[in-house]
Amino acid sequence: MTTVPLTAQHTGCSMNANNARSNAIQAIINYRPDAKSLSYADTPPTSLFGCNVFNDRVMRDRLPKNVYKSLRKTIEQGVQLDYSLADEIAAAMKNWAIEKGATHFTHVFYPLTGLSAEKHDSFLSPDGSDGAITEFSGKMLIQGEPDASSFPSGGLRNTFEARGYTAWDVTSPAYIMENANGTFLCIPTVFLSWTGVALDRKTPLLRSNQALNREARRILDLFGIRTTLPIVSYAGLEQEFFLIDRHFVFSRPDLLVAERTLFGAKPAKGQEFDDQYFGVMPRRVLSCLMEVEQELYKLGIPMKTRHNEAAPSQYELAPVYESANLALDHNQLTMLILRKVAKRYGLFCLLHEKPFAGINGSGKHLNYSIGNAEVGNLFDPGDTPHENAMFLVFLVAFIRALHKHGALLRATVAAASNDYRLGAHEAPPAIMSMFLGDQLTEVLEQFRAGQAKSSRGKRTMNVGVDTLPPLRADPGDRNRTSPFAFTGNRFEFRALGAGMAAAGAQVALNLILCDSLDYIASRLERAVAQDPSSLNAEVEHVICDVMEEHSAVLFNGDGYSDAWHREAVRRGLANHPTTPEALPVLTEPQTVEMYSRFNVLNRQELAARLEIYLEQYSKTVSTEAHIALRMARTIIYPAGLRYLNELTQVAKRLASLNRKNDSSLLERVQRTLDKLEAATDALETLLNTKETRTTLELAHFFCKQVRPAMEELRTHADELEILVPEDLWPLPSYQEMLFIK
Ligand code: ADP
Ligand code: MG
Repeated sequence: MTTVPLTAQHTGCSMNANNARSNAIQAIINYRPDAKSLSYADTPPTSLFGCNVFNDRVMRDRLPKNVYKSLRKTIEQGVQLDYSLADEIAAAMKNWAIEKGATHFTHVFYPLTGLSAEKHDSFLSPDGSDGAITEFSGKMLIQGEPDASSFPSGGLRNTFEARGYTAWDVTSPAYIMENANGTFLCIPTVFLSWTGVALDRKTPLLRSNQALNREARRILDLFGIRTTLPIVSYAGLEQEFFLIDRHFVFSRPDLLVAERTLFGAKPAKGQEFDDQYFGVMPRRVLSCLMEVEQELYKLGIPMKTRHNEAAPSQYELAPVYESANLALDHNQLTMLILRKVAKRYGLFCLLHEKPFAGINGSGKHLNYSIGNAEVGNLFDPGDTPHENAMFLVFLVAFIRALHKHGALLRATVAAASNDYRLGAHEAPPAIMSMFLGDQLTEVLEQFRAGQAKSSRGKRTMNVGVDTLPPLRADPGDRNRTSPFAFTGNRFEFRALGAGMAAAGAQVALNLILCDSLDYIASRLERAVAQDPSSLNAEVEHVICDVMEEHSAVLFNGDGYSDAWHREAVRRGLANHPTTPEALPVLTEPQTVEMYSRFNVLNRQELAARLEIYLEQYSKTVSTEAHIALRMARTIIYPAGLRYLNELTQVAKRLASLNRKNDSSLLERVQRTLDKLEAATDALETLLNTKETRTTLELAHFFCKQVRPAMEELRTHADELEILVPEDLWPLPSYQEMLFIK
């Protein structure tokens, strides 16, 4: 099963545009399909799938019956784990892992950096008589105590109480990660401070799933639907990314450090021909993605589709949706594997939301639904009016949710990298609205009209009788410009950036839905308590009221248009185009009230998150600004100067020969260099200003002052790029990076 990687030719440390270009071309020409690569004819994908996962099959085979049964109960029904069984589970897990070649285990957790974190511990212990034994107790499985002082805590944890602890998340299976020199066992965990404060992204997700189960059940109860399984949220995450030759990254400090080009003139051809989407994949890229898929299959990640995306060198992978906790862990792994495998093919996987200005950025679409194996998908319109009535309840719950908390949802996707996408006429705008499609909008509007008319004795739409047409949203009726679209049986939230952990958004979706389900269930429960036959009538009232108060959030038109931006203002919808504007919603009273009411995050935990995310924003922009400054001074300006020198030599020479000399080019280069230098100085001065600022003020400073200064600098550098001869220009161009593949 092992594959021999194609190694990009190593060229030593100094690399410029010219040898990056020739090395990239060589890497492509020399690329040979891997002779030893896996053949699905010999190893069918079905036998590969999940082979590195401590999954249900493995547990059933290896655990004593009573232990297996008890563990299943915890996984399926959310019943608390019986800790007396931990030793037996750990022993089975260890034996399985060692058979798979593992020497170490690690608790994997998701700190607020948005990345995955792991610290490896060996199974080996000295046995006291010059030998060693392997050891892995129940306690080691269940709990870890990493030194947490180097992870962001937003002031929640003082360094003197640096201890954090990780706790096994039983609902996400353990798995084996492979490396050329061995393997190790990974155990998904939550990460908390010693005092029980959530320091990660998984803890709130698990808490919000519990809340969702409680609130959704109240609605199911009202409609007389029983289920033994918890209601969970599902997520299907479509993942976009760029793959470019690694040599280009080595010769561009901006790509290497910030994963985004801070300079670069527009290529003669970009994506204006619309010839990329669903195009045939380059051979090397396809080979790479096939190996990515193999790795993901082994981890039990159900990758389903792959295709070329709209921008050159941009691609998308999408899995089959899964229960959110699993789907989100799997998405983190997908990003990790993409980065890792790309290197084996001499490629670099860019997960940044906007690596190239003027070229489409990469997003991550979160397809969201709720339900379970018994009741099915609760966003699926049913075949009977009864089912449809319940469907409409869940639907209007989301309309109310998005209208009340759109700004919160926006905040969950706020990051320095995503500000370049949202509202840049390619990704949805920063205004949160909902696309429902014409049919559903009409049905809901008729309820509202019905109530208006009912005072005059006329009703248009009625729950419980079949005046309700079959509710089927046309899947062809797609609107790509809406941030939040109903696509037939789920919502598609399209504002996530490619590199983001999806947990923040998933938690917010769960909670804003909970908030509305709570409101609606309370109303329905009150009505039914007074008169058991009043359910349908009260459902109608709820639909009417929600439409009356919250339909401003519905918008089926073009979300990119200026007209919509004006209209959204008129409708009172929030528009927070930048991260510093978006984030403070996290600690606004209605957010705090909601997160506390459902026991997901308290005021202190939310405040810490706000602090951390603002800091991350400032650090990101600050790092980029310093790279830009350095590149301008040490790479770009000198290139311009060299050319100026050449031009000056030519002018002198022509003058000495008494030839006529047109000096306009020389002057243009000189002027551009002057502007470049002035802009570099301005940026430097800005970065050197010493003022005491709050975290929020600092973020605004970077947003409103530093970013424009970087833009200004870029304008002149890009102007220079189209003047300086190619062989003197030290940075790989957009054309090379995007089209040599
Ligand atoms: P498109 O690009 O047309 O939106 P894709 O096939 O690329 O479609 O992605 C759709 C994603 O939505 C997949 O990950 C799919 O598994 C997921 N999905 C489908 N049904 C549901 C559902 N009920 N809940 C959550 N996700 C879903
Ligand atoms: Mg989609």
